[in-house]
Amino acid sequence: MFFFTLLFISPPHIVSRTILDHQAFTQPATKIAIKNHNIQSFINAGIGTKMLGIAQFKRYLTRFGYIPMYNNTFTDEFDDKFEVGLIRYQQRLGLQVTGKLDSNTVSQMMIPRCGVSDTTTHNNHHHITKHFMYFPGKPRWSRPMPRTLTYAFSPVNMIHSLSMLEIREAFQRAFFKWASVIPVSFVEAEDYGFAEIKIGFYIGDHGDGEPFDGVLGVLAHSFSPESGRLHLDAAETWAVDFGVTKSEMAVDLESVATHEIGHILGLSHSSVKEAVMYPSLRPRDKRANLNIDDIKGVQSLYGSNPKFRSGWLLESDLSANQGVQFGVKPLSLVASFIFFSFAHTLCACLS
Ligand SMILES: [Zn+2]
Ligand SMILES: [Zn+2]
Repeated sequence: MFFFTLLFISPPHIVSRTILDHQAFTQPATKIAIKNHNIQSFINAGIGTKMLGIAQFKRYLTRFGYIPMYNNTFTDEFDDKFEVGLIRYQQRLGLQVTGKLDSNTVSQMMIPRCGVSDTTTHNNHHHITKHFMYFPGKPRWSRPMPRTLTYAFSPVNMIHSLSMLEIREAFQRAFFKWASVIPVSFVEAEDYGFAEIKIGFYIGDHGDGEPFDGVLGVLAHSFSPESGRLHLDAAETWAVDFGVTKSEMAVDLESVATHEIGHILGLSHSSVKEAVMYPSLRPRDKRANLNIDDIKGVQSLYGSNPKFRSGWLLESDLSANQGVQFGVKPLSLVASFIFFSFAHTLCACLS
C-alpha cells in the first residue's frame, strides 16, 4: 500500500522517470527513491556492476551505520565495501542474507524508520532468541532502582494537528508499557527545563546534527542515557486514531513514542520484526505492545518490576524458543559478533 501511495502522490515530473535521477538533486540519505515497478531492477547488480541509482543505497547504508565511510563521495559502482554493508543490513533487519539488492531488501529500505543509527553493542548473551541490543558502553539511567524519571513536552516545538491531550495520552500509554516491566516510573513535570526526558517535534535541521527529512523517511530519533532528548519529525502526519486521521501517510504516535522511549532507556534496535525496537514502521501500522525481546532487553538493564508477572515471561520465553507464539526468528550468531565491533553511533557522537 505504501509503495502505491508513493507512486500516487509523486508529482508528474517524478513519476515519468523510471528511477529518480539523483544527479538532478540529492535525495536525503534517509530516503530511497524508486518506483514500485522498478524495485526488482537492481537484483542482478553485484561487485563491479555500475548502475544508476546504486549511490543512493550507499548513502542510505552509510547514514544508518552499515558502511563506515565513503568520504561523502558516493558512486554508482557496486563495490565490495557496499556488499559487506548490504550483508550487515540484511542480517540486522532479519532479512534473507543475499548480498544483493533483492526486492525484499530494497522494499525494506523504503519503509519509514527511526533515525537512530543501527550500530550497536549486542547483548552479551548469545542465546539464540535474544536479539535486543544496547548502545556502546551499555549506558542506562544509573541512580538506584526503583526510581522515577520526569518528562516534559517542549513549550515551543509542538504540533497542532493533534490536541495536547491526545499527545499527552499517547505518551502516557507509551511510558506505562515500559514502567510496567521495570522498576522505573515516569511522571510529567511542569518545568520543561528541569525534566529529565525532553520531548519535542522538530522540522529539518534542529541543531543536533541529525536533521529531519520531511514526510516519511526518518520519523523520529532520540538519544541514549542519560541525555533524555526525544525528537519527532514535525513534518509527519501523526495519528492517535486511524479512524479519524485518514491520510495514507499517517504515522502512529504511540508506536513511535514507545520505540523512542526504548532508546531513552538504553535499548538500541532489535532484529525481531515484531519487537517495538525494530527500526522501521509502515504508515498506518501500529506496533506499540512490548515484545518479549523488548522486555528481556530493558529488564537486563534495570531489572524487573516486582509487579511484573515473571511466570508470563517464563511462558513467553518457552514460546519464543519454539518460535511460535511470538514469531521470533533466529538470527545468525555471525550477526551478533559483527555488530559487537561497530562503534560509531549517534549516542557516541553526541554524548
Ligand atoms: Zn530507533
Ligand atoms: Zn533531534
